[in-house]
Amino acid sequence: AQERYASLRNLPAQSKCGTVTRLYMNAGLMADLPSIVGSGAEGVGLFRTELQFLIRNQMPKRDELAKLYARVMDAARGRPVAFRTLDIGSDKVLPYMKPQDEPNPAMGWRAIRVGLDKPGVLHMQAQALIRAAAGRPLTVMFPFITELSEFNAARSAVLHQRDREAALGRQVPSELRIGAMLETPSLAYAPDEFFRLTDFISVGGNDLKQFFFAADRENERVRRRYDTLNSSFLRFLRLISDRCAENGTTLSFCGEDAGRPVEAMVFAALGYGTLSMRPASIGPVKSLLRQVDLKAARGVIDDALAQGVETVRPIVMDWLAAQGE
Ligand code: PEP
Ligand code: MG
Repeated sequence: AQERYASLRNLPAQSKCGTVTRLYMNAGLMADLPSIVGSGAEGVGLFRTELQFLIRNQMPKRDELAKLYARVMDAARGRPVAFRTLDIGSDKVLPYMKPQDEPNPAMGWRAIRVGLDKPGVLHMQAQALIRAAAGRPLTVMFPFITELSEFNAARSAVLHQRDREAALGRQVPSELRIGAMLETPSLAYAPDEFFRLTDFISVGGNDLKQFFFAADRENERVRRRYDTLNSSFLRFLRLISDRCAENGTTLSFCGEDAGRPVEAMVFAALGYGTLSMRPASIGPVKSLLRQVDLKAARGVIDDALAQGVETVRPIVMDWLAAQGE
């Protein structure tokens, strides 16, 4: 199978109907980057910057981070890298930050909430990214955005740092793309302005599912209780896709489910044009996407959702089995 996937490496994830889905990889450490070549990933759809903070015993300095980000961009060899600003709190506690005593850390003071309330680190990170990307394109995304005003504030902070660097006479990124992760259900119902202002939206399915089903992603007893292909969840993913289409917003999915071929096919059929996953999943996902007609799959999914089934999985599996006949 590995060899078969290797032969697909340089081929697009083009489905029978002609739709091309972009397959990106998730990363978080320098050591992850070499897989970008072997896996055939078109870029890094989620770079979890907090990992480099978590492996240190003290807060990294701006210049050190700038060097690190420049090395990440070099290793990506011109392919885009979506740097997600620090997603700490919840399960990720920095050893050199005062631990917060919170009853529900997953719903607590985490991610962009910390970034906006204590902006020193967000500003430092933005400066490091802007310096690292001098003269080349830069993609930044914010974790756990819950309403438009949070996105506005975080985006303004990054733009302000860019303008500041320019005013100091330094070379700035040739292009700056700023996106939001959609990980809390409320954001799907944000005003149209949110969808128009973001350069892209990336659904963080791990968190989105935990909040949609109220099922803790860290709790073994409940984490797999609800199917990702549950009709309610798919209707919700379809709504997000529709809102993006109406507003011309680029949409991707970067949670773990994007690396499961059947789930990936369903997301692609629902209009998720970019899927970001662990590198080893790219081959299997691409292989399936190339064998199906995504427009036909969309019809099957829409029909199943209209029927009122609890999960569309059996219908999708039967349809897939019939494709091979
Ligand atoms: C997610 O929530 O789906 C996601 C991609 O981010 P993380 O797993 O780092 O929370
Ligand atoms: Mg998340």
